[in-house]
Amino acid sequence: MSAQAPGGEMVLRVENLVLEYPLPRQSLFAPAPRHRALDGVSLQVARGESLAVVGESGSGKSSLARAVLALEQPGAGRVELMGQDVFALSPGALRGLRRHAQMVFQDPYGSLDPRRKVGWIVAEPLDALESGVGAAARQARIAEVLVSVGLKARDAEKFPHEFSGGQRQRIAIARALITHPALIIADEPVSALDVSVQAQVLNLFMDLRERLGLSYLFISHDLAVVRHVADRVAVMRHGQIVEEGAVEQVFREPQHPYTRKLLAAVPRVGHPRQAVAGATTAP
Ligand code: ADP
Ligand code: MG
Repeated sequence: MSAQAPGGEMVLRVENLVLEYPLPRQSLFAPAPRHRALDGVSLQVARGESLAVVGESGSGKSSLARAVLALEQPGAGRVELMGQDVFALSPGALRGLRRHAQMVFQDPYGSLDPRRKVGWIVAEPLDALESGVGAAARQARIAEVLVSVGLKARDAEKFPHEFSGGQRQRIAIARALITHPALIIADEPVSALDVSVQAQVLNLFMDLRERLGLSYLFISHDLAVVRHVADRVAVMRHGQIVEEGAVEQVFREPQHPYTRKLLAAVPRVGHPRQAVAGATTAP
């Protein structure tokens, strides 16, 4: 299957996405209430582009990430990955498409199986999504992605507990890269890391984007973090995008009161958090 988007096309297109979760019934006879986590979300990510989605906890960011990967079934709306409607595909075709969009999660401790060696962990998406990769090619792919995130090929033989938090997030990123995706969906990928380590991992994201031409859907509750990794930012509140624009534009002239409130929480220059987001040199 050719899932390549022709040059300049959208790797991700989300239209009017609605996602509701059932809530516990109040009584046996009452209809089950529902919580609307996504309330008509539309966005697009072009090839090579980095779109940040920011919003407070509970605004629906992770629900959006899961729905984009067809891990949640929306009540309405459409998701096109590489030009293909993810909810119209057969399971096999969806598996084929998943190679092109990989996820990086917040928690570098919880997302790596402690009983598995790093090589196994990193190769898992490859093993699950690409059949017929020979042993030698598989080893080469593991080494390639470990080196590309600043680790060593021989780290494949170690276990996650032998690495620091920042290194573990590098392992998670290597795992996301192994299928050579066009889009990385990163859900709060630095939120669990120390401030000094955040800068290094953000730099890695920027460096990989430049080297590999990746697109990002970069999710964060922290506007300071997205400033230097995103071209555009979509501000999410109660399952809706209340504002969207070029990052610098939104920082300079926020239109929505909610965006201004988020910006007011961003520390000023000189604060350590600002230094993190401002550190754009290679680690
Ligand atoms: P965010 O990632 O921005 O913090 P989430 O997408 O995790 O937000 O959650 C959005 C809303 O949906 C929250 O109110 C959350 O409590 C609710 N929610 C998330 N997952 C579920 C679920 N599986 N069942 C019920 N409610 C959920
Ligand atoms: Mg979340």
